Amino acid sequence: MSRKSNTWYRVATIDDRCQCCGRDLYGHAIRMLELDQRIDAYHDLGGVPENQSQGAFPFGLACAKKKLKQAEKLLDELKL
Ligand SMILES: [Zn+2]
Repeated sequence: MSRKSNTWYRVATIDDRCQCCGRDLYGHAIRMLELDQRIDAYHDLGGVPENQSQGAFPFGLACAKKKLKQAEKLLDELKL
């Protein structure tokens, strides 16, 4: 891992659904990711410049991993 991780884990409340697959996550561990409007992809909290952030959204752990991988690939391609 090259970047310092700012991961934010918590346990889902009744209102939390996975932003990726829509699964009800109540009572499960979730990971909050921040939406980067430059590339429409999700990063760990703090990984997006403040003026580009669309806010944080909850994900199941497996989906979060998938999304982070996508974002890394996009950033790599775009050299942002
Ligand atoms: Zn999901």
